[in-house]
Amino acid sequence: MTATETRVLPHLRNITPYASARSEHAEKMDVMLDANENPFETAENRYPDPEHRKVRAEIALQQGLSAEEVFVGNGSDEAIDLIIRLFCYPGKDAIMVCQPTYGMYQVSASIMDVRVIDVPMTDGFRWDIEHILERQSEARVLFLCSPNNPTGNSLGESELREILLGWKGIVVLDEAYIDFSLHPTMRKLIREYDNLIVLQTFSKAWGMAGLRAGIAFANPEIIAYLYRIKSPYNLSAHTQERILQALAYPDEMRHQLKVILHERDKLMAALGHLPYLINIYPSDANFILIRVADADHLYRYLLEKGIVVRNRNRAVNCAGCLRITIGTPEENQLLLVSLHHYHRT
Ligand SMILES: *Cc1c(COP(=O)(O)O)cnc(C)c1O
Repeated sequence: MTATETRVLPHLRNITPYASARSEHAEKMDVMLDANENPFETAENRYPDPEHRKVRAEIALQQGLSAEEVFVGNGSDEAIDLIIRLFCYPGKDAIMVCQPTYGMYQVSASIMDVRVIDVPMTDGFRWDIEHILERQSEARVLFLCSPNNPTGNSLGESELREILLGWKGIVVLDEAYIDFSLHPTMRKLIREYDNLIVLQTFSKAWGMAGLRAGIAFANPEIIAYLYRIKSPYNLSAHTQERILQALAYPDEMRHQLKVILHERDKLMAALGHLPYLINIYPSDANFILIRVADADHLYRYLLEKGIVVRNRNRAVNCAGCLRITIGTPEENQLLLVSLHHYHRT
């Protein structure tokens, strides 16, 4: 058995995936009477490609990987869900997370009755590698998020390698915010570590959160398992078209990215002058985490001004914290005006 086979749940090793009509032949035939579709041609009368062949080929080309190392999901949230299903027994196994972090790992695990072991980040929001490795026998999958949501900081390559060298189960590195970061993506490490899965998404820098498209990079064996257990038509024809279009014309995205990063630096500097600010955390992402004395009060004040931010006051180690997404220059200006007028009453 390969290492991946020993890691996936035994009942999934030989599972027969749904053989969709469309996956049985690669070429578009002249007369397609195999899928009970309405024959009258429109943009969407046909079932989409369940294997996302064009999309994967293009992503692979741009990222210097092979298509067999690329999975595309209905948002990276789908990949998170499938990864837990692939490696964790309900009612028995556990995943590990490092709080504070993205909430979906916990939500997906809980839905499947998979326990969540938390090895919290340190006070300075660093990963507690010693304790992560010490407790590894308790969890099948370790979720790392870098840049981390909501703290905004990144795991260094040497830290990641230290974890990968010691961790025997699956390591998921969620790079949803990697486009905003000065740190390079770690996606190439999937060729060195057969237990590493790297997640990226079209929802943040690419500006397509409403489309629902996310990527998982991993060794071809894990990717093949993800394709076998996903629902056959997880990406609509429209979604696959839009991804190809976005990948062909990335200029607008690159321009917006520059504006957002410039705005982030400006906002960072301006926030630093607020007298009631206790802490402001450096960010590799498109949001800034701040700490104030009374986060609930400031949160409600901003709501009254018509501005909604993310209240993280109740997250682990985040008392007093608000997470602020970088908006347009106009939106950030409105935020700053409101913040300057804020007085605790
Ligand atoms: C926003 C976000 C995602 C994106 O999820 P999608 O399902 O791709 O929209 C994934 N991980 C983290 C940490 C996020 O903050």
